[in-house]
Amino acid sequence: MNILVFGPNGSGKGTQGAIVQKKYNMAHIESGAIFRKNIGGGTELGMKAKEYIDRGDLVPDDITIPMILDRLKEDDCQKGWILDGFPRNKVQGETLAKALTDAKMPLDYVVEIVLPRDIAKLRITGRRLCVNDNNHPNHIAFDAIKPVEKDGKMVCRVCGGDLNTRADDQDDVAIDKRHDIYYDDNTGTMAAVNFFKGIGGNTKVVSVDGKLSIDEVSASIMKELA
Ligand code: AMP
Repeated sequence: MNILVFGPNGSGKGTQGAIVQKKYNMAHIESGAIFRKNIGGGTELGMKAKEYIDRGDLVPDDITIPMILDRLKEDDCQKGWILDGFPRNKVQGETLAKALTDAKMPLDYVVEIVLPRDIAKLRITGRRLCVNDNNHPNHIAFDAIKPVEKDGKMVCRVCGGDLNTRADDQDDVAIDKRHDIYYDDNTGTMAAVNFFKGIGGNTKVVSVDGKLSIDEVSASIMKELA
């Protein structure tokens, strides 16, 4: 099963992607996480991407598109994947659609987590990243995934690891820029969302209300995928 998941930054897309990935044991490809791993490892790709990410800009297509298309060719993706954070604009969307057709890779589901911009912004600043595993969800505003206290500090609720914040999550200008890109239905992410929602064929569209709790959003998605 191959799935594209869309949602604005702060909609819980990464959390839901991790839940689906675990249930179906598929490859979870997160463009932002690949960049962050490269930045952490000090690679050339990471160094190139960092300045864009810190500003809330998109990393240029000539870096991002080949990175994701190459990733989809890897062995673990042949059994199914969930792609999160890509495509982020119209060009990426059209390029991905063509690459999937050329590779005869079906797109089974387009999942859209719908969330108004003001709520998405409120959610971004509270999220925390586990240093051990990016798929351990932690958020200071949600009881279900609140970090736990250990020796006077907040640690990962899953593994007790240290928690970080993302620099681009604490910068108001960067948050607004990322949302400008997401909600732009002319050439931005919403243009790609609308393109894939209209792609037809055997691709099923699942739209869920991102204002619901993590469990409710997850149940709505699972019901459709089952
Ligand atoms: P995310 O973790 O999805 O919020 O992504 C963090 C940052 O990585 C974004 O704000 C962009 O700077 C960059 N990024 C992630 N995915 C893409 C993409 N598909 N195209 C360009 N830049 C991306």
